[in-house]
Amino acid sequence: MLVQPDVLLESSIHCDLLVVRDFGAYEQSCAVPVMFPGRGDKLTDQQKEFQEVARKFAREEIIPAAPSYDKSGEYPVALIKRAWELGLINSHIPESCGGMGLGIFDACLITEELAYGCTGVQTAIEANSLGQMPVIIAGNDMQKKKYLGRMTEEPLMCAYCVTEPGAGSDVAGIKTRAEKKGDEYVVNGQKMWITNGGKANWYFLLARTDPDPKCPASKAFTGFIVDADTPGVQMGRKEMNMGQRCSDTRGITFEDVRIPKENVLIGEGAGFKIAMGAFDKTRPPVAAGATGLAQRALDEATKYSLERKTFGRLISDHQAVAFLLAEMAIKVELARLAYQRAAWEVDEGRRNTYYASIAKAFAGDIANQVASDAVQVFGGNGYNSEYPVEKLMRDAKIYQIYEGTAQIQRLIISREHLVKFKN
Ligand SMILES: Cc1cc2nc3c(=O)[nH]c(=O)nc-3n(C[C@H](O)[C@H](O)[C@H](O)COP(=O)(O)OP(=O)(O)OC[C@H]3O[C@@H](n4cnc5c(N)ncnc54)[C@H](O)[C@@H]3O)c2cc1C
Repeated sequence: MLVQPDVLLESSIHCDLLVVRDFGAYEQSCAVPVMFPGRGDKLTDQQKEFQEVARKFAREEIIPAAPSYDKSGEYPVALIKRAWELGLINSHIPESCGGMGLGIFDACLITEELAYGCTGVQTAIEANSLGQMPVIIAGNDMQKKKYLGRMTEEPLMCAYCVTEPGAGSDVAGIKTRAEKKGDEYVVNGQKMWITNGGKANWYFLLARTDPDPKCPASKAFTGFIVDADTPGVQMGRKEMNMGQRCSDTRGITFEDVRIPKENVLIGEGAGFKIAMGAFDKTRPPVAAGATGLAQRALDEATKYSLERKTFGRLISDHQAVAFLLAEMAIKVELARLAYQRAAWEVDEGRRNTYYASIAKAFAGDIANQVASDAVQVFGGNGYNSEYPVEKLMRDAKIYQIYEGTAQIQRLIISREHLVKFKN
């Protein structure tokens, strides 16, 4: 794909950073970019308000509940309901459907705060955005009002149903088939690793409509909206994952599932572009989630380093530990800038694929490094579930896997970079 000339120009814009710090012990630092031309020099009052509400909710309600949800693996229904009441879910549903119509930048600010509390809860919430995004970018008025509208009336969940047991990175390799029969499509196939799989009210489903193996991906697949209670939709067991354990991940089987043609997004053959296009808007929030986790790991490690003594000194007074904290801080600040750049680009109406993949790849990697470093700062205690950083290290891993692995992001970045350079 060709990169627009204005995107090339924008890529050379530099940005500064004004860091507003709350020096209260154990408080999260808050970076406010000064920033990308056209945005002014600070967050808007509304953005600050959302950030504050999300921060308070994360500190006061998510953090105390998170260890128990992590142990039990129970879906955090009460927290999700509360987040819905506070307006921290579905922020981008258009106003015409009863939503708030916020931008991706705004959504990212909220997501970072929720992730600071618990990324299992944040992923469950973020999966709603992922499921909704194909409808937001490609749904007609009727589809948007029906499926997005109902989510503003009650705290319902949805899911993005693309990956299969045999195909994740290679999306064009999915085998689920949808055959047109009269005014319906009949779907058969098996999906895997679907977040909110067992809790969704409806799914975005990608299925193959052109059986010809030579048909290009851009024409072979169709995107559907599927009500979860349609006969033939069977939810598998909840998967027991390494981290983010309260998030609901399942396989979903479709057996002779009949979907009315009114539930096709755009038209037959448009599905692949819709499914991939959603990532430009959902990867910046995923990067924001990884940044929130990394910030939490940094704060936990810093607090501990100011309490724990060895050889008669606080461990923060050992330069090796202090420099480790400095390295962690560098990574957190840069990850935040990366997701803000990616979100800002797409909110400005520009193609942001390059920035979204950079943000996702970088934030996913540093969340793992920073969480592992936090365990190191805690020493033996860090390896134990009585302390918070062990969970952070387990929770971080998925950021290098879902919504395109770390390797796939590099494929995208290198492709975009080379096209840009050749142009
Ligand atoms: C907890 C969880 C939640 C998820 N939620 C969802 C969801 O809501 N909806 C959904 O549709 N999917 C979801 N997924 C699926 C996720 O997006 C895939 O697992 C991911 O894209 C990787 O696909 P895969 O597991 O098939 O790995 P594979 O594609 O088999 O990859 C295996 C390894 O090979 C590497 N690799 C593959 N191809 C290349 C290449 N061309 N070049 C270099 N390296 C390559 C990968 O990076 C990886 O390291 C979820 C997964 C998990 C674990």
